[in-house]
Amino acid sequence: MKLMRKNLEDLIPYEPGKPIEEVKREYGLKEVIKMASNENCLGPSPLAVEALRKALSNIHLYPDGGGFSLRRKIAQRLGLKMENIILGNGSDEIIRMIVETFLNPGEETIMGDPAFIIYEMATKVMNGNCIKVPLKNYAHDLYAMREKITPRTKLFFVSNPNNPTGTMVRRKEVDEIMKDFPEHTIAVFDEAYYEYIEEEDFPDTLYWLKRGKNIIILRTFSKIYGLAGLRIGYAISSPQIISALNRVRQPFNTNSLAQTAALAALDDEEHVRRSRELNRKGKEYFYREFRRMGLEFIPTATNFILVNVKRDGREVFEKLLRKGIIVRPMSGYGLSTFIRVTIGREEENQKFISSLKEVMEEIENG
Ligand SMILES: *Cc1c(COP(=O)(O)O)cnc(C)c1O
Repeated sequence: MKLMRKNLEDLIPYEPGKPIEEVKREYGLKEVIKMASNENCLGPSPLAVEALRKALSNIHLYPDGGGFSLRRKIAQRLGLKMENIILGNGSDEIIRMIVETFLNPGEETIMGDPAFIIYEMATKVMNGNCIKVPLKNYAHDLYAMREKITPRTKLFFVSNPNNPTGTMVRRKEVDEIMKDFPEHTIAVFDEAYYEYIEEEDFPDTLYWLKRGKNIIILRTFSKIYGLAGLRIGYAISSPQIISALNRVRQPFNTNSLAQTAALAALDDEEHVRRSRELNRKGKEYFYREFRRMGLEFIPTATNFILVNVKRDGREVFEKLLRKGIIVRPMSGYGLSTFIRVTIGREEENQKFISSLKEVMEEIENG
């Protein structure tokens, strides 16, 4: 396309997990399980669904663009002020806003390789330069990333835990790099899976915010809270950074139903607890089964697992589709023999494992 801006030429459109309806249509299937996008297999919080019912009759009104109630509640939970919080149409939108707000053309963003793809896309849209630092043992190499900071580095993205590998960086590493983190660079910690974390040495990024560092923490309602379809997430930062982000924010970026559901979901501690427990059981089941099958996997701090199927991951992905199971092939991330699978409910996990075994045999027997 000749009219397109030049720097968009090597930007490949994001490839999301295949939707259930599409797979049903394409393969003539009645039942399809999606284990491709790290959604909550328990569904949304029942309290959120109830709140949505009540809110439906008000959708003729514009939403509260400033998201007053939700921001206040989030701030209270964190012991912060409303001025420390901004809402986004998913944290994806906040990532875009961060880059739009801070990155001048030609400036650099640092990220892991592979890491969450949206950092790279947002950088390219704004004519920035991505500095991609290879992972070490499938985890962010924070020290190597720190070494790459130059006077032109504006943003430093850490997907923690990392999508697509499921690994996390530890408190000690974050503390070490934050101590003398340069003032001209903003550290962005994307903690989309925060509520799933059970490890004790997960970094305390709020501590560094309170110490006055240029830091943005991203959280979302798409994962454990089960509201991915409504698109709502938030960022936590200094009032100065939040106020800068508000300059580029669209006036009604988060809709009223999303705000209502998020408010209710925050109160549903039972749903969060059940989701976490189910995830822990599913994770242990997968570890056991993968070990039995002799498959290498990356121990995860999230609700998804990266597993090395030792064959073309895309072929395994396609054969699983035919059996009504959607996972994610990882060739786009340079992990051609891997697939990423979201931990599901018990029966879904079993169906996945039995189907994976069948697929592996099919490939073996040509
Ligand atoms: C899922 C995910 C997000 C969140 O996306 P939303 O836009 O809030 O749905 C952000 N970062 C990472 C690393 C993720 O895996």
